[in-house]
Amino acid sequence: MQLLDTLSRPLRDLRISVTDRCNFRCVYCMPKEIFGPDYQYLRRDQILTFEEIERLVRVFVAHGVRKIRLTGGEPLVRRDLHLLVSMLSTIPDLDLTLTTNGALLAKQARALKDAGLKRVTVSLDSLDNKIFKTMNDVDFAVENVLDGMDAAAIVGLGPIKVNMVVKRGLNESSILPMARFFREKGYILRFIEYMDVGHSNGWRMNDVLPAAEIIKMIHAEMPLQPLDPSYRGEVAERWRYKDGSGEIGVVASVTQAFCSTCNRARLSAEGKLYTCLFAIKGHDFRDLMRGGATDDEISQEIARVWGKRGDRYSELRSENTLSLPKVEMSHIGG
Ligand code: SAM
Ligand code: SF4
Ligand code: SF4
Repeated sequence: MQLLDTLSRPLRDLRISVTDRCNFRCVYCMPKEIFGPDYQYLRRDQILTFEEIERLVRVFVAHGVRKIRLTGGEPLVRRDLHLLVSMLSTIPDLDLTLTTNGALLAKQARALKDAGLKRVTVSLDSLDNKIFKTMNDVDFAVENVLDGMDAAAIVGLGPIKVNMVVKRGLNESSILPMARFFREKGYILRFIEYMDVGHSNGWRMNDVLPAAEIIKMIHAEMPLQPLDPSYRGEVAERWRYKDGSGEIGVVASVTQAFCSTCNRARLSAEGKLYTCLFAIKGHDFRDLMRGGATDDEISQEIARVWGKRGDRYSELRSENTLSLPKVEMSHIGG
């Protein structure tokens, strides 16, 4: 049964955060000053079990969800994640992917592929170790992420997509080197505008380098032309190199809001459903399940939540929206 929200948007894409923990402290996501040694992460009994996640996914699929992205925090720090992948990969008509920082990918790529994962997206913000280490803030080296990508490509988890968050004044000098390098490799690089998610990253509009500027910069050296979206509601705007040597994407969530086609919901590690990346409040499915709800009751609750959804934060973003309460990115995974 196809669900539509108050703006006639269907529910197609579910992003599942499998943990709120991470082995990086990216300055734009989990800055050390807040996510320090005393930070209270969710306890094991507070996060959804793999069985609970699988059960929910089956109900979501019955409502029209066709794409699942596993995310975090860092999904690969969740023990035995490949077991969850093997449970979800048997569900028909589902595109199953994963977004990771790549740190543990070299070790896990084979098990993930064997469990039925189709593709991965790996985040990398610079090829320059000094800049990358400033951004991940745990002294993690670029080479290890590249090894993770290569391991994933070798086992067939491709085409690999690479996410680069661009923060003005921090890594804009990495845009061209990244574009050249990944064009050569044949991986699809996507530039993401730095967003005002959560409250811990101290976001300012001035920190955003607009996607149009990024495209202009690359086009001047490696001419580009726009591509049609692969499907309605695609987040990244696609561009191809005119010489046929591949494509890139830009996610202009700040400067060119795409709320009108947004068909994504997000499930936090503790089982709360968020209907927007900038949602104030999640809807609890963990206690519903643990309280003995039937699949029918869960299905009705999903329909109720989606049916009253009217989110379009990015279209309304202004100085005033900055101070609104919001969920942290590390809880709902981007
Ligand atoms: N830990 C995994 C990773 O980094 O790929 C998955 C979770 S992470 C929250 C998902 C994506 O969100 C990453 O590509 C990350 O770079 C991006 N992200 C995090 N904070 C962001 C921000 N403030 N603005 C834009 N993108 C952000
Ligand atoms: Fe961790 Fe990903 Fe957030 Fe970086 S962006 S701190 S790797 S969850
Ligand atoms: Fe979707 Fe909310 Fe982002 Fe708009 S702001 S595109 S509704 S997640």
